[in-house]
Amino acid sequence: MNEMELMMHLHLNNDRQGPGSEEMTRLALDIARVDKATCYRMADLGCGTGAQTLTLAQELQGEIVAVDLFETFLEKMQERIHNAHLKASVTSLAASIDHLPFAEGEFDIIWSEGAVYNIGFRKGAGYWKNFLKEGGILAVSELSWTTGSRPNELEQFWKEAYPEVDTVSNKIRVLEDLGYKVLGHFILPEYCWMENYYLPLLERHPSFMKEFGHLEVARNIVSMDKQEVDFYKQYKDYYSYGFYIAQKM
Ligand code: SAM
Repeated sequence: MNEMELMMHLHLNNDRQGPGSEEMTRLALDIARVDKATCYRMADLGCGTGAQTLTLAQELQGEIVAVDLFETFLEKMQERIHNAHLKASVTSLAASIDHLPFAEGEFDIIWSEGAVYNIGFRKGAGYWKNFLKEGGILAVSELSWTTGSRPNELEQFWKEAYPEVDTVSNKIRVLEDLGYKVLGHFILPEYCWMENYYLPLLERHPSFMKEFGHLEVARNIVSMDKQEVDFYKQYKDYYSYGFYIAQKM
């Protein structure tokens, strides 16, 4: 197994593959002032195993195209969809979020939690705008500094992992530069990281190591996860995911 397959194996049975919560998805929907009686055409980009897809489909009517690079995640998402009572229909699409087979102006809502970093925030928000109708909504969560300055060690760590990490105000500026009207933003609280993401991931480590601990690449994954969690605990006052809700003008 290569690194990607091992990571998928490690994350597959967790509810989510990044920080977030149902409550925060609903808060973003409130800020977007969606109308629950309208049928929307929506895309959920980098959906993983579908944590936010489920919430969107419970809250809204219409159709959701849930996109991820990995079929395995999409199959798990479909299992969860199948077992839930939903208002919207959900179809899955295995594709890269920087190369999408959609038509211009096709969507009312484009959603993406914890996934835009894979192609970069500016590129993603700019590219996805093509697929939104005028007045359509972009809701996207993105790693962001929550203060104007921060310890060097932390800055080096995240700059290396994700060079586009930036302050909330600069993320908003990017959306404004791209021609969006920013409707609102908020910062994901600690439980979205610890209870909903890191703790379930750490709980999976022992069984993962039992199965794959003989592989150096698996041991590296576990040690990187632990390092990331330790960083979060030490420096959580300085960064989080910002959730940005904007409208195509
Ligand atoms: N939105 C989910 C959540 O919050 O639980 C998943 C977030 S996870 C941090 C990022 C997701 O993006 C993964 O499911 C990964 O497979 C997907 N991904 C990574 N690169 C991608 C790409 N180029 N195109 C589509 N999906 C991608």
